[in-house]
Amino acid sequence: MMNNINPKVEKNLQKFNENGVDVRKLLFGAVEMLRDFSYLSNCPCYLTDYTGNITPKPSAIGLDGITGRINKGFDQILEEFNSNCAESRDYYEFTYLEYTKAVSIPIMLRGKVFGFVVYAGFVIKEELKGKKLDLDRIVSKRRADLNLQRALKFVSILSNQITVAYELNLQMKQNLEYSEELRMQKVFFENLFENSPEAIVILDNQDRVIRVNKEFEKLFEYSKEEVLSKLINDIIVPENFKEEAISYTKQTSQGKFLDVTTIRQTKYGKQIHVQVTGKPIFLDNEKIAVYATYRNINEKVWNQIQEKIIYETTDLLNSAPSQIDLVQGIGKLLRPVIGTGEMFLELISPMKKYLRLFSQSSGEYRNLAFSESVSSLVLKEKKMLNLDESQIKDLAGKNELSLSEIPKRWIGFPLIDNDVVLGVYGISSFGSPINPDADTLKLLELVSLQIATGVSRRNKELELKTLYRSMEQSPASIVITNRYGDIEYVNPKFCQVTGYTEEEVIGKNPRILKSGFTPKKVYEQMWRNLVRGQEWNCEFLNVKKNKELYWERASFSAIKDDFGKITHYMATKEDITDRKQFEKDLMEAKIQAEESDRMKSAFLANVSHELRTPLNSVIGFSNLCNNKMSVDEILEFVQLINKSGNQLHEIIEDILKFTMIESGGMERRDDEFLLDNFFEEVKSQAIEKRKLENKERLEIKFVPDTNFNKVLIKTDFQRLLNVVMNLFKNGLKFTNEGYVEFGYKISGKTINLYVKDTGVGIEQDKKEIIFDRFRQVDDSITRTFGGTGMGLSISKKIMDMLGGRIEVESELNKGSTFSVFLDCILSTEKPKHKMSDKTATEIDDKPTILVAEDELSNFKLIEAILKRSKYKVIHAENGGEAIRICKERGSEIDLILMDMRMPEIDGMEATLEIKKFYPEMIIIAQTAYAMNGDKDRALEIGCDDYISKPIKKELLLDKLKDFIKIA
Ligand code: ADP
Repeated sequence: MMNNINPKVEKNLQKFNENGVDVRKLLFGAVEMLRDFSYLSNCPCYLTDYTGNITPKPSAIGLDGITGRINKGFDQILEEFNSNCAESRDYYEFTYLEYTKAVSIPIMLRGKVFGFVVYAGFVIKEELKGKKLDLDRIVSKRRADLNLQRALKFVSILSNQITVAYELNLQMKQNLEYSEELRMQKVFFENLFENSPEAIVILDNQDRVIRVNKEFEKLFEYSKEEVLSKLINDIIVPENFKEEAISYTKQTSQGKFLDVTTIRQTKYGKQIHVQVTGKPIFLDNEKIAVYATYRNINEKVWNQIQEKIIYETTDLLNSAPSQIDLVQGIGKLLRPVIGTGEMFLELISPMKKYLRLFSQSSGEYRNLAFSESVSSLVLKEKKMLNLDESQIKDLAGKNELSLSEIPKRWIGFPLIDNDVVLGVYGISSFGSPINPDADTLKLLELVSLQIATGVSRRNKELELKTLYRSMEQSPASIVITNRYGDIEYVNPKFCQVTGYTEEEVIGKNPRILKSGFTPKKVYEQMWRNLVRGQEWNCEFLNVKKNKELYWERASFSAIKDDFGKITHYMATKEDITDRKQFEKDLMEAKIQAEESDRMKSAFLANVSHELRTPLNSVIGFSNLCNNKMSVDEILEFVQLINKSGNQLHEIIEDILKFTMIESGGMERRDDEFLLDNFFEEVKSQAIEKRKLENKERLEIKFVPDTNFNKVLIKTDFQRLLNVVMNLFKNGLKFTNEGYVEFGYKISGKTINLYVKDTGVGIEQDKKEIIFDRFRQVDDSITRTFGGTGMGLSISKKIMDMLGGRIEVESELNKGSTFSVFLDCILSTEKPKHKMSDKTATEIDDKPTILVAEDELSNFKLIEAILKRSKYKVIHAENGGEAIRICKERGSEIDLILMDMRMPEIDGMEATLEIKKFYPEMIIIAQTAYAMNGDKDRALEIGCDDYISKPIKKELLLDKLKDFIKIA
């Protein structure tokens, strides 16, 4: 057929076909109408689309007859059509086969040309003009016009019909598609809902069940009918989870999403762990329902929950600051699993007297008597108890428990660690009853095991903390080393004692404290014991950082791990330096006491000897006296008795002084006096003493400090005299040959008085003890020297009292020097002339007269007169020599007889000079008889008197007596 379709029309046609309506089919209906129209109009009609097909097959009346002709002329028609009416909406008339007329009327569908109705095959009578044609239809023009009008109208109706049919078809088709989609969706969702592995429920706004799926029925053991319109919380929520469930439904009804793990129960009361998700369903922003799913938490998920709880419990055990926090924290963890029970922890108190109750609801612990708690039953049985109200009542009765309130359910697990029962952990429920399933109980048991280890660890930590604190505050030094001996810990006391800081000793070996005084053997023994794990105690003399030595008593022990292996060593040390000192002092005191006891005996023996000797002579000599004896003999005896009496007096004086000192009754006087006066007294007593002791063979020397004059001192005159005389007496006593010298030296305010002898001397090691009471170098019975051993001790005590000190220097068999130092100088004067340092003068009881006389015969005369009168004479041959002797031995000289006329330096000049440095020196001038001028001159220049030559014995002695008293 025709292939050259007008492309624009073809596009239209395709469009209609694309819509899924088979437009050709629409023509079937049209064909029927066309047939009727053809029949009524008595003209053949046909319908064509642009594929060139006549659609449907031309069967209209009359059409058959013309089909062949039309077909014959169709090419022409089509050409006409293509060129003229393809897009025309108007009809188009044309003639074919010479007289035959046709009209093509477009059929419109949705405003577009869809096909044509060709109304054809007629010949208009008037146009034949009498020609006779064998033709089918010959109609009048009028009739032809009328038919055309009708045909136009008909096609217009047809167009409408087809359009309507098309629209209908289209609509129907779309409806069909839509409902199919809906059906599909419904099936899909139904399937999804019904076959979901999760239990699903849809609730209305009041939480009533609208729909449940198969899984829901299966999980909760309800049929659909049983749950429809019921409140969800009434059917699947266990009593003790009601509160929680209400809060959940409230949340979702407020439009929130929910995702929790909890417990629900089946129709038959079986509790199951479920993961619940809830979602609100909105329509046009309005919540119309709630969609909730329940997933049965299978073993794996339950294990995960368990793991999480156990993990977080461990965490809590490590981090909870107190037991209360622990109980509350664990309670929170377990709440989704066990619902509304209240967790408690009842720990046995440290003294095991009562239970300490830590509960989830209260902020602090409470003490409970064992009889006040169901826990005591668990502690007794040492196993878990899971009791309901009636069981509790029953057991409480039997065990005489006085419970303040009976819980609906009570579950308690014993907390046991290493066989030590620590307490009970559990849950009690007073409100809605709880009834955990086996899995939950197992979990609770696991948690209680954890708590047991945790509590035990906490106890140990507390113990450790206490231990650590006591170590830190210990009054003993503590050192911990590793097993190689490196210091790992020292306490503050260690640092305080040794002077080392912690940083200085950590990592070091304790041998830094070794002083070297502890024998090696001790350390070896110590280590032998320690490596065997045995304790070791010892006293060490150690050294501090500042090199100071100190004593410590150390106790060492080994620290072992659980397997008995030594990991550390610990030393606890006590500084016993004071104790050692105390012991030493005690020992010394003991020795001293013994010594003093021994000394007392020796003293008593000495004293009795010392007293007996003079007493014997007193009694002996006085017994001897009788009237037959001559006066001389009696006088001699009396002298001996007197001497012994003096000795006795001295000893008794010493004893009294000593007793006074010992009893603290000695008082000190403060006298101000010139040193010269003091030594005058010393000199005279010394001479006296020498005589008494029959030691006249010994020289007595006096050596003053020539750098000073008029030394004024302030101290107790008598006591100082006692001391010096004691020393002097000892000097005499312990010296057989040579001399006893005394003197002084001045340094600043201090005076050093000394007594030096050339006697037996003192051994080095006795130098200290001789100052102790009753001590003598030789305290044997066979001793050579007498004495009581009190003198030095008295002297030392006196010096202590006067604020001074006494020292001795001595060399055996060479002599001793006792020195007394005292800060007592008030003032001094410098001598006008420097005196010679060698001023040791022999002290004698004879007054010494210096005779300055150049004439030897004159001197001899004077010497003879003086010596006979017990004067000691020193000769100076001239003025110069007189000055020199005065300078050297001025203190020895009592008076100078000065000849005025002498060679070189005469008497006048010498007098002037001597008076300069020795103003108090008594000088008597010898003047020539005839020379009165000499007399006056002598007195003028300072001579104390004069005597004229030739010297007359009596006059001289008289004059001397005026100035010197002879003993
Ligand atoms: P006493 O002389 O009565 O025994 P002292 O206390 O005065 O007691 O002296 C104690 C001891 O000191 C003497 O016994 C003597 O051994 C020793 N001693 C004291 N002075 C001297 C001295 N100048 N030379 C040697 N020994 C002395």
